[in-house]
Amino acid sequence: MIKNVTVLGLGPMGRAMARTFLRDGYRVTVWNRTASKADALVAEGAHRPATVREAVAASELVVLSLTDYDAMYTLLEPATDTLPGRVLVNLSSDTPEQARAAAKWAAGHGAAHLTGGVQASPPQIGQPGAYTFYSGPREVFDAHREALSVLTETDYRGEDPGLAAAYYQLTMDLFWTTTLGWLHSLALANAHGISADDFLPHAASLLGGLPEFLTFYSPRIDAGEYAGDAERLTMAAASVDHVVRTAEDAGVDTTLPEALRAAVRRGIAAGHGENSATSLVEVFRKP
Ligand code: NDP
Repeated sequence: MIKNVTVLGLGPMGRAMARTFLRDGYRVTVWNRTASKADALVAEGAHRPATVREAVAASELVVLSLTDYDAMYTLLEPATDTLPGRVLVNLSSDTPEQARAAAKWAAGHGAAHLTGGVQASPPQIGQPGAYTFYSGPREVFDAHREALSVLTETDYRGEDPGLAAAYYQLTMDLFWTTTLGWLHSLALANAHGISADDFLPHAASLLGGLPEFLTFYSPRIDAGEYAGDAERLTMAAASVDHVVRTAEDAGVDTTLPEALRAAVRRGIAAGHGENSATSLVEVFRKP
């Protein structure tokens, strides 16, 4: 059986996906706004039609790897006559609301839509261990699971097209806040003559301890319990204040720790001072 797939969008991620399908024996059709990004893939055996219409028409399975969902509309609005019977697997980042709207839009044009949220970097595509959240119609996912498994392992979250995008954005929320926190700590480290490399084992040790912390607190948070038996928000307030002042003294930007301090202060004003700092989830729920 000939295995066909079209990949629309050839940034680092789309190129890694197209290449992985090629290596798995797929007949791969590619299209990108900047056509030259397909040159290497064409040399490796991919087909590059002149128009996006031809690219969509070439395969039932159409994988999108674009900056956002607006780029999908830009690409596909002029090609909607090719959509009936297609399965759009949208692996572009965007909001759950955008994913739900896209599923309706696709259905209105006779196509199925699967939302995906890739938990991997381009070099990890096709390697064991990487996975992607999916959501959308179960039967469509099941019919194409094998093809999608060529890229990464699959983690089907449910029928709601917004679910995979929601899980993806949760991980991005955590990723960006953690990464920016790390970069801020490095600026502070540098101001004290400490290099990123000097700090590395300590940063890694702290982050490596987080799963234990999360495992202890997750069931409590789900139960609405914020007992201050292990730590209290008033302690967190003093600690975050020390971070802000250390940054001020070092002449380092204080925007990030000040945002944390503002949240902690709101928590104390809301009466959570004697609770665990995890009670801040209540503050975040009600801006
Ligand atoms: P890039 O931003 O490098 O590539 C985006 C693609 O979208 C390019 O092919 C670009 O075309 C196309 N594009 C953007 N805007 C338009 C438009 N208006 N019209 C037509 N085409 C457009 O992203 P990546 O390849 O790195 O990532 C793709 C998706 O995967 C993103 O949503 C990203 O968040 C997600 N992702 C990326 C990861 C990574 O590590 N790279 C990890 C996990 C998820 P052109 O080449 O012409 O500019």
